[in-house]
Amino acid sequence: MKKILCIVLAVCILVCLPILAACSPNKLRDAAKKADSYEIVAAYDPETHILSASQTVTMTNRSGNAFQSVKFHIYANQYREGASTPVVPSVYKAKAYPNGDSYGDITFDSVKVNGTPVAYTIEGKDMDILSAPLSEELFPDQKVTVEMTYQIQLANIMHRLGYTDNVVNLGNFYPILCNIANDNYDCSPYYNIGDPFVSEVANYNVSITLPEEYTVASSGNLKEATPATSGVVTYCYEAQAIRDFAFVLSTKFNKLTHTVGNTQVNYYYYNDQNSEDSLATAVGMLEYLNKNVGEYPYEQYSVCESDFCYGGMEYPSLTMVTSGSQSYKEAVAHETAHQWFYGIIGSDQIANAWQDEGLTDFITFMYLDEAGVMPLTTAIKANTKNYVSYVDVLTNYYDHVDTSFRALDQYKNDNEYVIFTYIKGSLLFNTLYETMGKTKFLKALSNYFDQAQFTVATPQTMINSFTKVGGNELGKIFADFIEGKEIISKVFN
Ligand SMILES: [Zn+2]
Repeated sequence: MKKILCIVLAVCILVCLPILAACSPNKLRDAAKKADSYEIVAAYDPETHILSASQTVTMTNRSGNAFQSVKFHIYANQYREGASTPVVPSVYKAKAYPNGDSYGDITFDSVKVNGTPVAYTIEGKDMDILSAPLSEELFPDQKVTVEMTYQIQLANIMHRLGYTDNVVNLGNFYPILCNIANDNYDCSPYYNIGDPFVSEVANYNVSITLPEEYTVASSGNLKEATPATSGVVTYCYEAQAIRDFAFVLSTKFNKLTHTVGNTQVNYYYYNDQNSEDSLATAVGMLEYLNKNVGEYPYEQYSVCESDFCYGGMEYPSLTMVTSGSQSYKEAVAHETAHQWFYGIIGSDQIANAWQDEGLTDFITFMYLDEAGVMPLTTAIKANTKNYVSYVDVLTNYYDHVDTSFRALDQYKNDNEYVIFTYIKGSLLFNTLYETMGKTKFLKALSNYFDQAQFTVATPQTMINSFTKVGGNELGKIFADFIEGKEIISKVFN
C-alpha cells in the first residue's frame, strides 16, 4: 500500500546499473504446477451493489499435519456494521466514507466439500473466517475441493472493497484460503493498519458479468469477452501463479496502453490530468526492475486510478492509485515496485511489513532519482529527518522508546506503523545501499528474486541474498534495524 504520511512523506531516488536480470518462465510454470486453484463465476449488479458468485477451490494440504477442515479468510465481512475492528482507523473514517456510514458483508448460500454440502461455520474475532468441515481427515499432500456460492454487499466506501460514484473496487473480495504456516492455518485477523494479508500464489479462472457500459480492469489475462446480450457482457480471465486476484470496474475509465517486453501495461484513468506521465512511470518502473532485479513474469499489468482513502493499493498485475494523488508519479512507482516486492516475491505483511514496504519505498526513491524526478539524497534526508524527529519527540515523553520493527498489531497507531515500516524501512535499505554500493545492492536484489520468486520469503531469505553478495557483516545491519539498535545520523545537510 502507499500511505500518505500526516507529517511529511518524502519521495524519491537512485541511479541504476544494469545487472543480471533473471528470466523465469520455467519457474512460473513450476510454481503454477504446484499451486492451488480458484474458479470464480461472478456477476455484479450496480443497482444493488451486490456481487454474486460461485467459487470452486482446489487445495493441497502442504503441511505436515492432517486437517479436519478447510479455512478461508472472508475479508468482505470486515465491512459489517459493528465490526470489532472497523475497516479503517478513526482518523481515516471521514475520508473513507464521504457520504456517511455504509456497511457491507458476505453471506453464503451453500458450501460443499468434494461435492457434498457441509455445515460450514463463520468464525474468528470478526466473523472473518469461513471453516468448512471435512468428513475425513485431509492428510499431507492430499487434495480437497471446496465449492461455495455467496453474495457480497458492497459498502459505499473509498477502500479496497466498495463502490463510489467513480469506481467499484473489488479487492480482497472472495474467500481466500488461509495461508499454511508452521503446519497449520494462519487465521490472523484483519488489522486496519497496513496490508494484513499473506497468501501463496495460486492459479485463477475468473469471470465477471456486468452491464456493458462498464470497463473492467483486472488481474490476469483476458481470455474471452462474450458479445453483449440484453446490455450485459461477460469477461473471462485466467492467471497462473499469482498471489491474489482483484478487479476495478468503472463506467468512466479511459485507457492508455504500452508494451514492455512480454507485458502489456494499461493505465485506466478518469481524472488524472497527466495520464501519459502516469503510464510512462509505470512503464519506466517495469523496465527498471526488469533490467535490474528480474523479469516480470506476467503478460498484463494494469494501473487503475481509483477512489481510495490511502495513496494506493497493490494486487498482482493490478494496482489502485488514488485519484487526486499529490504525486501520481510516486504513487504509480510505489505500487508498481510492489509487483516485485509483495507480488512476485511474497512476504509476511503482518509480521514483517518492513520487508516489502521499506524496500518498495527505497526502490521508488531509486527509480525517481534515475527518472530525474527527485534525487535519492533528497528523499533519504527527508526520511531521516522525519524518523529522527519522531523518535526525539517520543523520547521526551517516555523513558523507553521501542524502535524495533514489529508486527502490525504491535504498532500503537497508523502513524507509528508508517514511520517504522516505510520510513525507517527505507533507511535500512539505504544503509545497505551505501555500504555495498549500487552494483552490489542491485545484485543482491536480483539474487533475492532468484531465490524467492513465487514464495512467501522470510526475512532470513532476504538477509541471505544480501550477505551472499555483500558479506556477512550486512547481517548485523539487518539485525540492528530489526531490533531497534541502529544508529541513524542526525546530520541532515
Ligand atoms: Zn506499499
